[in-house]
Amino acid sequence: MSAQIIDGKALARQLRIGFRQRVEQLKARGVAPGLAVILVGDNPASRVYVGNKIKACEECGVRSLHLGLAADVSQAEVLRTIEQLNQDDSIHGILIQLPLPPHIQLARVLEAISVHKDVDGFHLYNVGALVSGNSIFPPCTPYGVQLLLDTTGIDVAGKNAVVVGASNIVGKPMGLMLLQREATVTICHAKTRDLAQHTILADILIVAAGKPGLIVPQMVKEGAIVIDVGINRLPDGRIVGDVCFEAVKEKASWITPVPGGVGPMTVTMLIENTLRSAERAFKTAGEAAFQAWEAPTVKSP
Ligand code: NAD
Repeated sequence: MSAQIIDGKALARQLRIGFRQRVEQLKARGVAPGLAVILVGDNPASRVYVGNKIKACEECGVRSLHLGLAADVSQAEVLRTIEQLNQDDSIHGILIQLPLPPHIQLARVLEAISVHKDVDGFHLYNVGALVSGNSIFPPCTPYGVQLLLDTTGIDVAGKNAVVVGASNIVGKPMGLMLLQREATVTICHAKTRDLAQHTILADILIVAAGKPGLIVPQMVKEGAIVIDVGINRLPDGRIVGDVCFEAVKEKASWITPVPGGVGPMTVTMLIENTLRSAERAFKTAGEAAFQAWEAPTVKSP
């Protein structure tokens, strides 16, 4: 039987409606949530990603500040820009679009962003908080995957979850989040021997390798939930994931498409983290009556 499709676009749309209400609530209390996006250089793909983030802000009523810095900007200047944004009370989230030019040390830049405004969740403190199971700003892509999994109504606890890809921004935090929800987690990567022997055991298979066609049906357990994080542009211009969608959907119970699966959720969770930051800043400023932030929940069908 063909898998049910997990529709990331629809879920993102639904969440963003809720965001607009939260923005209105904040504005009624005199807080206009603001996100600053720093782009260093002129990488065309990065420009598209930044454009999508700004658009999502507009859609939800979040103020966005786009700071474009020249490709040869000094590291000191980038750090100064971040420090100014850290001090700016009208900015609740700061993100720096990756990758950075090679003369800028990524670790230095990520650690310069205030932990309280680190809406990408890449600061060491936020990474550590994720490890200890107490995350502040969960990194956006795995956070989005978590909500997509919720839509299936299937409890992750006790399931075999296999993550293919071990990057700092997707694979590793994804593994930690699944572990936090008591799945039995395996993280595979480019050096994993016989990938299929791991993936075939997965009740939940999450693929983030950036390799089109990597996951074929023979590697997938009958009835598995398959989440495809990969985004790959083929020579003919088509965008595909890492999973052979048409064939694998005949074996899986649930599957995400590419495009329209994880992608729309990543930007949506960035807005979620920004609103959460604004709400927290407001609470810290001290109106006890204000409703505390609650993690978005998704009803199962
Ligand atoms: P990355 O290049 O930093 O990491 C890729 C990981 O996959 C590495 O751990 C590598 O060891 C592993 N890998 C590579 N080839 C493999 C193979 N043959 N078998 C097993 N593991 C293999 O990439 P990333 O930033 O984590 O992104 C991964 C993919 O997800 C890319 O296609 C990227 O475009 C996409 N992505 C999508 C979103 C989204 O919002 N949908 C967000 C981030 C990344």
